[in-house]
Amino acid sequence: MTPEDRRAFIRTLPLAELHRHFDGSCRPDTLWEYSEKYYSAVPGLDFEEFRHYLQWDDAKDRNLLDYLSKFDLPLQYTQFYENIKRIAFELAEDAYNEGIRVLELRTNPFIHRRAGLSTRQVVHATRKGLAKFGETHPDFRAGIIIIAMRNHGGNMARILLREVIGEHADYHNGPGVIGFDIAGAEPPFPPILFAKAYEMAARMGMGLTVHAGEAAGPERVWEAVDNLGPHRIGHGTSAGRDPELLKRLAKDGIVVECCLTSNIHTGATDRYADHPLPKFLEAGVKVALCTDNPTVSSTDLVREYEIAMETFGLSEGDMRHIARMSWEGSFLAEAGAWPGPAAGAG
Ligand SMILES: [Zn+2]
Repeated sequence: MTPEDRRAFIRTLPLAELHRHFDGSCRPDTLWEYSEKYYSAVPGLDFEEFRHYLQWDDAKDRNLLDYLSKFDLPLQYTQFYENIKRIAFELAEDAYNEGIRVLELRTNPFIHRRAGLSTRQVVHATRKGLAKFGETHPDFRAGIIIIAMRNHGGNMARILLREVIGEHADYHNGPGVIGFDIAGAEPPFPPILFAKAYEMAARMGMGLTVHAGEAAGPERVWEAVDNLGPHRIGHGTSAGRDPELLKRLAKDGIVVECCLTSNIHTGATDRYADHPLPKFLEAGVKVALCTDNPTVSSTDLVREYEIAMETFGLSEGDMRHIARMSWEGSFLAEAGAWPGPAAGAG
């Protein structure tokens, strides 16, 4: 199969994106426009240099700190209701153009509150941006996953949940909050700190996912599975080293959200070929291919499918299976059955 054939094939698949961060997916052009509007452009800084503050550069960037630094700049502009709404609309549009028909966008409302917005206003703006795109694209479904930061602790996570419950999808027509997640530095903040928050989110009818096993070993994934009852695990990269854990993930039907390029940039894996995706598939663990942060990693979901196919020699049938597992792993009730061809066809 030529790269062109592969790409054309992937473009035929209805895709679901389950792991995409709001602040790592903003269009550089839009942020540049805001920069010019607010600061009449920063003297001596041109668009190309500006992009470097947003996107990974293989020639210059090396480690997790370089990766995390790319999230600073968007925050200057994502403190205002209209900007958040516009960016959410553009995120939906970009996803749609990649062939994504089910988008779960995750956001950490606390970091968008520096100019006085409330948590609920941040989520409302996000919801409205997604809804606006949906008005003209009835075949597009979107929902929001709320992220609590690990370093804020379990009590703050519960406060956050109370603040956003009014934005839950159940109370609105169109996009709303559908899931809960924790993110941030893994080693000092074990999942057990968030057991009560996850219990509460489950009672609120939210889908549960956890960033785990990205910057820490499989023990953190075990702890997440044992203490938080998640439906999905974000990254779970280190789980590939633990056959017993793979059995557990398979047995419980937990979906692992795999983000290949992001894992290289953050150092979770050294090379694409080292990613445990084939181990997950072999062990019968459900997987979803995801981007994490398309702007930061200069990727999109089609590209991630291409990389998986190329790197691991996966067949068209394998890719259909992955696309279907991704779709079926969605927290969006109205996503329904995967609309692609039956598994094994062709
Ligand atoms: Zn993530």
